[in-house]
Amino acid sequence: MSDYEEVWTSESFEDIIPMDNNYQERYIYSDYDEEYREAYRMASEFLEGEIWRKYWRYPLFLLDQLRCEICPYAKNDKKFFEDWKNIIKTETLGEGYCARRDGVTYILYQQDNSCPERKTYVFHHEGGHVIGVHSILYKDILLSNDKQKDKLEDEATIIGRNVFLPAFIIKYLLKSFDYETVKKYYNKVYHVSKQYFDVRFKHLEKDLRNMIYPECIKEEAEKELNDLENWYFLETLVSF
Ligand SMILES: [Zn+2]
Repeated sequence: MSDYEEVWTSESFEDIIPMDNNYQERYIYSDYDEEYREAYRMASEFLEGEIWRKYWRYPLFLLDQLRCEICPYAKNDKKFFEDWKNIIKTETLGEGYCARRDGVTYILYQQDNSCPERKTYVFHHEGGHVIGVHSILYKDILLSNDKQKDKLEDEATIIGRNVFLPAFIIKYLLKSFDYETVKKYYNKVYHVSKQYFDVRFKHLEKDLRNMIYPECIKEEAEKELNDLENWYFLETLVSF
C-alpha cells in the first residue's frame, strides 16, 4: 500500500463526506438541489478530467486549455464596444462575458477593474458558463433578458465555485485552520474577495451533498493543506 492509499483510507476524510455509498441517499433533497442537479452533474463530471486536476488553481490556464480566447478590454474602449456590441447585445460594457463568435468561445473581461478580486470572480463565473457549455447550447438565451437566463447565471456561478473553489478542499482546510485564516489565504493567494469567500462558504454543505468527487480530490486537498501550512508559516514569520 502506498502512502497515498493510506491517506485515502484514513478517517481524516470521513467527516467531510462519509465514505459509505449511501451518503447521498440519506439526504432529503431540497428544491434547490433538484433545480440545479444538472449544474452539479456537469461540475462533477468536469472534476473527473485531467484538465481540472492540472489547472483548477489557475482559472486562466484552465480556460486556455478549454480553447477559449481570453480578451481583456478597457472600460471605455469604444472600438472594442463597437466590435462586440451586436454579439453581446449590450448598451454599455459590463465586467465580463462569455460569448461565441465564428465557432470560438471568448471570455471577455474588463481589464482595468479596480480590484483584482473582481476579475477572479468573473473568471470563475464565466468559466462556469464555458464548462456548462452555455455559450454553445443556449447562445441566444445567454445574451437575452429571458427568465431562463437567470437560471443559466445561477448555474454558471454554481459550476464556477465548485470547479475553482471545491467545497471538499475548503472543508478539509477548515479541519486544521480557523475560518478567518483560510479566508485570508484564499484572498492573498488566489485573489478571492472576502465577500465571495463568505458566500462560497454559505453553500459549502449544499455543494458537498450534491457533488460527486473523483478520488484525486483527496490528494488535491492534501496538497492544498500543505500550501496553506507553508503560506501560514511565512505569514507568521513576517508578522514577528
Ligand atoms: Zn453569466
